[in-house]
Amino acid sequence: AKSIEGEAFVWYDERLLKKIQMENEYKKRMQYALEMEEFKMYLQPKIDLATMEVAGAEALVRWDIPEVGIIPPDSYIPLFEKNGSIADLDFYMLKKACAYLRGQLDRGNEFFSISVNFSRVTLCQQTFHSTLLEIINRFGVPSRRIEIEVTESAFNELPYPVLLMLERLKDEGFRISMDDFGAGYSNLNMIGKLPIQIIKLDREFLKEMDGHENMRGIVICAVDLAHTMGLEIICEGVEREEHVHFLQDIGCDYAQGFYFSKPIPGETFTEKYLTGEMR
Ligand code: C2E
Ligand code: CA
Ligand code: CA
Ligand code: CA
Repeated sequence: AKSIEGEAFVWYDERLLKKIQMENEYKKRMQYALEMEEFKMYLQPKIDLATMEVAGAEALVRWDIPEVGIIPPDSYIPLFEKNGSIADLDFYMLKKACAYLRGQLDRGNEFFSISVNFSRVTLCQQTFHSTLLEIINRFGVPSRRIEIEVTESAFNELPYPVLLMLERLKDEGFRISMDDFGAGYSNLNMIGKLPIQIIKLDREFLKEMDGHENMRGIVICAVDLAHTMGLEIICEGVEREEHVHFLQDIGCDYAQGFYFSKPIPGETFTEKYLTGEMR
């Protein structure tokens, strides 16, 4: 007879095996999924805290496999980063964002912008700059309508040519933001040297703030730091009204989170936020 531990081990083993099988499935299906447009662009609004109006949106990928359902990005992005195919997905999302922006521009909405997430792997491709420009030009989208989100950890020890390339993108009018600020080990003096315009405070800070009075001070410092450096700051993970009031009180520029909306399909976003009178 098997011992209980033995069974537990078998169970764990099977789960692990299943995970590995799923990961292999994802890797095998990815290029096909790109062709079949199984990846969808969801949008989550970013709110200007001074006016409480929608200032833009972040594009977040959702993999919708027929008969399976929607798979969250965390279960395949790390895999695609490892095998390098993430660049194909990042540029695919950029195209979706540009197509969406084109539609808005055609309706006379000149103010809306979308931020797109780019992995370090994508950023470090030799052809990153030319591919980016080729895509936005193809759709006739001005560079200032695109924000490039790069995580704080991806900024760490970026090769010098990549830094120069980011500098150039900034000069060309793109907005660059440092995503998940504070989640990693940030070198504070780095902030002043990087070609960024906006800091995106990791959502852990608001989460930790509930019940921990001293976390408020850290959020206040982050806002002050950004402003002292001449940068803007957006807080993610805003889930409650008191978060909104606190952020408004301390002069944070933008907010994003479930309190306003979860990420939603592009068409739903248009209906909810962008139809009717344009400013
Ligand atoms: P991220 O860039 O930090 O995106 C924010 C994540 O927080 C999203 O998860 C979003 O759904 C979630 N979120 C937004 N508001 C709230 C809130 O109020 N509370 C909570 N608990 N969560 C909130 P999602 O969509 O699952 O994305 C996870 C990560 O996957 C992203 O983190 C980003 O790093 C990556 N990702 C998503 N799309 C892409 C993409 O097209 N390319 C690349 N390279 N990475 C992507
Ligand atoms: Ca992001
Ligand atoms: Ca983030
Ligand atoms: Ca993140």
